[in-house]
Amino acid sequence: MKMINASLKDLSAALAAKQVSAVELSGLFLDRIEKFNPAYNAFVTVDRAKTLAQAAEMDARRAAGETGPLLGIPLAHKDIFCTEGWLTTCGSKMLNNFVSPYDATVVTKLKQAGMVTLGKVNMDEFAMGSSNETSHYGSVKNPWDVNRVPGGSSGGSAASIAARLAPAVTGTDTGGSIRQPASLCGLTGLKPTYGVVSRYGMIAFASSLDQAGPMAKSAEDCALLLNAMAGFDERDSTSLQRDTEDYGRDLVKPLAGLRIGLPKEFFGPGMDDDVRAAVEAALDQYRKLGATTVEVSLPNSGLSVPAYYVIAPAEASSNLSRFDGVRYGHRAAEYSDLGDMYAKSRAQGFGAEVKRRILIGAYVLSHGYYDAYYLKAQKIRRLIANDFSEAFKVCDVIAGPASPSVAFKFGEKSADPVQMYLSDIYTISTNLAGLPGMSLPCGFGKDNMPVGLQLIGPWFGEAKMLGAAHQYQLATDWHTRAPEGLL
Ligand code: GLN
Repeated sequence: MKMINASLKDLSAALAAKQVSAVELSGLFLDRIEKFNPAYNAFVTVDRAKTLAQAAEMDARRAAGETGPLLGIPLAHKDIFCTEGWLTTCGSKMLNNFVSPYDATVVTKLKQAGMVTLGKVNMDEFAMGSSNETSHYGSVKNPWDVNRVPGGSSGGSAASIAARLAPAVTGTDTGGSIRQPASLCGLTGLKPTYGVVSRYGMIAFASSLDQAGPMAKSAEDCALLLNAMAGFDERDSTSLQRDTEDYGRDLVKPLAGLRIGLPKEFFGPGMDDDVRAAVEAALDQYRKLGATTVEVSLPNSGLSVPAYYVIAPAEASSNLSRFDGVRYGHRAAEYSDLGDMYAKSRAQGFGAEVKRRILIGAYVLSHGYYDAYYLKAQKIRRLIANDFSEAFKVCDVIAGPASPSVAFKFGEKSADPVQMYLSDIYTISTNLAGLPGMSLPCGFGKDNMPVGLQLIGPWFGEAKMLGAAHQYQLATDWHTRAPEGLL
């Protein structure tokens, strides 16, 4: 078995059979990171000694009789997750020396499950971006073509799976940041229903939209990871109190009878021909496997990007102002008043995209504009959620493209924010509605770049979605492909 391309289930079996130890497995990935990371810039922080010590702990847990599907398997964390004793930068200069004194709940839970922290991966600054070009630590390169972006904001997460520098990673998705990079780098990633995974210790971007999720090669791997990540957390007031569930319970369920809704708004102009061809071929495969397709409509989805770019910056500007205060509070004497302090600390620390968002956010929340922008956007948000409720009356899952194009070249969209924002046109409505969504590889488009199929489930439909994805992956091998020369 080739360890670097193995499924989590196979890695788990190899660890249980003592074919490999957790220390050896982490060592293998650390060696690859050392060799390949300079080409991709996926990892911001690697600490071999710390990782190997943690791996040794997991070997000791196993020797003491513990078992578990993830015990001893390494994974990398998006640098948005506070990780005790590790530099946690969130892609920002503001946090270039912030060593977190505590673990995010997601990090704690994955450690409890026995996973070993391989390092911290690069991302757009404060998760604002779709290309990783806003990271203070330099952009991440797409392993399928280093002249192209890996997507964003979880671009380091996506590139590290695509280059097989890690078998699993964490990501976060506020408007598409798990699904769009998963699509552009040819991997599987899932954004859960809002409230299923704790946001405690995950640096906030837009609190009512942010949700953490797993990214890996396959749906089966994502189900295992989600089982460990999900669950009620009293330290997150929006965390949902629900019974524990096995997100892998539908993996074996055949597709016969599954009704797939195809929103006509997702198949109109705006999607590139190569993406359309791959998505249509995937739908044919689903029909061949026994699923049926039905046209549905999400009439307000065209308003999702404008509504998002009111709501997300509004929430971000309040979050970041508070954050500024915390970071620069101790130097308050240097400033004439609070406003001055914010202005100066922002000028010192934030990159251009973050500054743009803070300005938009302050504007749409300000007196006289609140009703015209913020309140209206909130109403659109409700209409979008209602559209989905209607659609799910006639289908079990919704399918469409994850991104309108394959990975674009560096610089292609960075000069025009609206073009960049439109790369999330198919993902944002899901966040506004709080629904789960995922992207899985479904073929290749122009220049041999990966294409992702998006599945959207009803609220708490993760298991159903993962089942539908896994059945497709049993019949296809797109998810096993890696860029040439890397396996
Ligand atoms: N690309 C979107 C943005 O820039 C979404 C980012 C995300 O999901 N974190 O806001």
